[in-house]
Amino acid sequence: MKVLSVSFHHFRNLADVTLLPCDGVNIIYGNNAQGKTNIIEGLWLFCGGHSFRTQSFRELIRFGESSARLDCRFFGQDREQQARLTIETGKRQASINGVEKKTAAALIEKFCAVVFSPENLSLIKRGPAERRNFIDSAICREKMRNALTLQRYNRLLKQRNALLKEIQKNDSLKTTLSLWDEQLAVLGAEIVRQRLDFTRMISERAARYHQGISRGSEELRLRYVSSFGAQEGDTPEELRQKLLTKCAQNLQNEIFTGSTLSGAHRDDIEILINDKNSRFFASQGQQRSAVLSLKLAEASVLRERMGENPVILFDDVLSELDNDRQDYLLNELKGCQVFITCCEKSNKEQLNEGKVFYVKNGTVTE
Ligand code: ATP
Ligand code: MG
Repeated sequence: MKVLSVSFHHFRNLADVTLLPCDGVNIIYGNNAQGKTNIIEGLWLFCGGHSFRTQSFRELIRFGESSARLDCRFFGQDREQQARLTIETGKRQASINGVEKKTAAALIEKFCAVVFSPENLSLIKRGPAERRNFIDSAICREKMRNALTLQRYNRLLKQRNALLKEIQKNDSLKTTLSLWDEQLAVLGAEIVRQRLDFTRMISERAARYHQGISRGSEELRLRYVSSFGAQEGDTPEELRQKLLTKCAQNLQNEIFTGSTLSGAHRDDIEILINDKNSRFFASQGQQRSAVLSLKLAEASVLRERMGENPVILFDDVLSELDNDRQDYLLNELKGCQVFITCCEKSNKEQLNEGKVFYVKNGTVTE
C-alpha cells in the first residue's frame, strides 16, 4: 500500500497543501509545534476515521473554521484509489472512489497503516483498556466485520449494564437478562477468538523484533489474560459457553454493582519482558523498544493477512533511539512506505534516499 498524494483543507494548523510522498522513506522535519504530528494524524485518519490523540472531531478542524477535508490518492489492492474524509463538528463522512459511504469506518478495509506515536507508550504502563485497544484496532483494520462486532458488543454491554441497575430497583426484570447474556456471549466469543489468534501471531513476531532491537538480551512475550478463562485453543462455541457460565456465576455480584464483571471488555494482554510483567518492571528504554517491536509485529501480521505492506507512520521515534537501533528499524521496514517525523534533518544514508518535507508554521515545503 502506498500513498500517492494527500491533501489537507482546514485541517488542524496545516495550510491547504498537497504532499506527493515517495514510495520509500518520507521525512517530515521541523521545529516543535509546527504541524509534523498533524500530518501523521491526517494520514492515520484514512484507516477508519479515528485519531490517535483525540476523540473529539472538533479539535481536528482548523480554529475558526466549520469543517475540514482530507483527500488521499493511494495504491492498494492492486489499483489506484481515492478516499475523501470530511469532518464537521460531531460527524465525519467518507467517500471512496467517489462513492459516498455511510460511515467513516468504511475506510478500514481500503487503507491500512500502522502508527507509532509517543502516546503509544501508554500501551505498557496504563491499564488493560490500552492493550485491548491495540489488539482491537489491529483486528478491525484487518476486517470491517470485526469493527461492527465490536461496536455491537459495546452497545449491548451498555444496555445490559443499564438493565442490571434497573434490576436493583425491580427484581422481576431479572428474567429478561438471559436474552442479553446470550447475545453478548455470541459477540464476545467472536471478538475473543480473533484477539487470541492475533495475540499469538503478534507475540511470535514481536519476540523476534525485540531480540533484534535489544541485541538478543531480552525476551518479549504477550499473554492473553482472560476474565472468564478463555484459552488459546478454545473454539467460538467453547468461548460462548464459558461466557454464559461466568455470567450465571456472577449474577448476584453484577446486580449489586450494576456492571458486567467479566467478558471481552475485562480481558487484558500482558506484555512480558524476560517473563516479568512490563507494566510494573520495564525501564523507559525497554518500554520504547517493546512498543516498537509490537508495532513492527503488527505491521508484519497485517502484511501477511492483507497481502500488502501497510503504510508505516512513525511520529518522534528516531530521536530516542541510538544509531544501531535506528539502523535495525529502517532495515526491517524496507519495502514499506514510511513517514517519519523528527526535529532535525537526519544524516542517515537510508533516510537520504527518500523525500524530505520541511514543516514551518503549518506550511510544508519539499
Ligand atoms: P512537536 O515537535 O512538538 O511534536 P509538531 O510539529 O508535531 O510538534 P503538532 O502536534 O503537529 O506539532 O501541532 C502543531 C500546532 O498545531 C500546535 O501548535 C497546535 O496549537 C496547532 N493546532 C492543533 N490543533 C489545531 C487546530 N484545530 N487549528 C489550528 N491549529 C491547531
Ligand atoms: Mg509532534
